[in-house]
Amino acid sequence: MIKKLLKRVFGKSAKVKSPDSATVIPFEVHKVDREGISYGARRVTDGLQAEGFKAFVVGGAVRDLLLDRQPKDFDVATDATPEEIRRVFRRSRIIGRRFRLVHVMFGDETVEVSTFRRMIEAEVAQTDEHGRLLRDNEFGDQEQDAARRDFTANALFYDPATQEIFDYHKGYADIRANTLRIIGDPEVRYREDPVRMLRAVRLSAKLGMQLDVATAAPIAQLKELLANVPEARMFDEMLKLLLSGHALECIKKLREMDLHHGMLPMLDVILEQPLGERFVMLSLQNTDQRIRDEKPTSPAFLFAALLWHEVIATWKTREAAGERAVAALNTAMDEVLERQRAQLAIPRRYDTVMKELWSLQPRFEQRGGQRPIRLLALPRFRGAYDFLLLRCQSGEIDSELGEWWTEFQVATEERRAEMLQPDAAPKKRRRRTKKPDTSTVQAELPID
Ligand code: ATP
Ligand code: MG
Repeated sequence: MIKKLLKRVFGKSAKVKSPDSATVIPFEVHKVDREGISYGARRVTDGLQAEGFKAFVVGGAVRDLLLDRQPKDFDVATDATPEEIRRVFRRSRIIGRRFRLVHVMFGDETVEVSTFRRMIEAEVAQTDEHGRLLRDNEFGDQEQDAARRDFTANALFYDPATQEIFDYHKGYADIRANTLRIIGDPEVRYREDPVRMLRAVRLSAKLGMQLDVATAAPIAQLKELLANVPEARMFDEMLKLLLSGHALECIKKLREMDLHHGMLPMLDVILEQPLGERFVMLSLQNTDQRIRDEKPTSPAFLFAALLWHEVIATWKTREAAGERAVAALNTAMDEVLERQRAQLAIPRRYDTVMKELWSLQPRFEQRGGQRPIRLLALPRFRGAYDFLLLRCQSGEIDSELGEWWTEFQVATEERRAEMLQPDAAPKKRRRRTKKPDTSTVQAELPID
């Protein structure tokens, strides 16, 4: 009522204050049409509002829409409790143990719905000795929910019914100024959750936003705090960075901010391996492109690429010490994985695929008899072939090998017969590759 009156007095495009401290930005100003909201998110906000609850699209989706980007997913925040949300939507389930969220399903789409939460005040919250929050948030109101979020651009609430945006921290102005700014005192917020430092770098690289000076300032001095973050969470964040579709920009940014040293062991591996830098950069570029093209990408493929040159180095050392090629490769793979385990926290579930990708590499050099046909038939062929192409592109091996396989895959039977090399000609095959030690392996490798 009051809002309507104010609108009439100040004109339609004026920003007005809501009953709490939010500024309400009307559609005429922000121009984010409800058509941009996914079907599921719309159904969720409509359904909750029909039952008398508040419900908004929040976080990354509102930010992305304002930046003219397609949101990855749509999250909803509401004053309904998880049980109340469950009651409104038949196809939904409560997830999470510490802070319970509700997943509401509509066909392929899952909408994550969370009840407004508040940050627990530092005095009563449990923190570690560096100020990191050990307890999760508790239920709160909308204003408190805005304050517990990380960046002003991530703290906007969009109501699809009225097409209004509720802004508590001048996030709208920051987005328009292309600035990523943390809410509150930067140092306190990083101490509460050091992962926010990584999020600052990732989001500014991904969105092409400038990090506000005060937001960036304490990072250099606080980066060591990342060492206290539980490994699994760190791994998830690293994965988000590597699979953001902007991994190269993120890494460039980390370098610019002098954060690439000692911040994350995985980054050290990426940036400081002298042999594999070109290969690793190409793999990241390739992954970025695949994500932008909406092609599937597997973390295992990326990790296999990140560690490939370590595998090669260990493999060579073992061979030089007199071990047979196949055995040397097998032990090298295990050794590298073991060595990286403590450092990178790559979960064991990726091991099988990584090892397959590596151990199939020498088999691409076997181009006689039925071997290429058998290799083609393997389920992991495609990934291993993509891996091979990266090796060619990086200059590690002759591109002729990659070209041969590119043609062989699609060739007619007659052409394949022409392409196959005489089965018993190991010497000739050996000359085709730059790496004599790699071709020694091929002759000895088991066929399947
Ligand atoms: P992306 O596009 O990468 O998904 P996002 O901002 O949506 O970016 P999410 O991890 O999906 O990132 O988080 C959703 C929202 O939750 C954020 O927009 C932010 O408001 C809040 N949030 C996420 N992580 C934190 C954190 N560490 N501290 C405070 N708020 C956070
Ligand atoms: Mg998100």
